[in-house]
Amino acid sequence: MPNHYSASLLRTLRNRIPIDAVIVDMLRLDIRPDETLLRFRCPLCDRFHTATNPKTNLARCFDCAKNFNPIDLVMAVTHCSFVDAVERLKKRSHWMS
Ligand SMILES: [Zn+2]
Repeated sequence: MPNHYSASLLRTLRNRIPIDAVIVDMLRLDIRPDETLLRFRCPLCDRFHTATNPKTNLARCFDCAKNFNPIDLVMAVTHCSFVDAVERLKKRSHWMS
């Protein structure tokens, strides 16, 4: 159940599992190389008007005007539940800095 997860665990998963690694290595989204930005295929609109922000650890689609944290992104791409997304991300905790 979602409410069995502590706030600190959820905060850790959102903040410390690098969003770029979630996109490239975990979800294997299509990406378009760019000199400064990681542009990935938006799971909602399929366009590449996107970027990630290492400071906030969020992925943004400018067309959808939506930000995704790692949990949001796993849910949006794989159509899984919140609990499944949390469990999948917990298995990637070795990525934390
Ligand atoms: Zn989009």
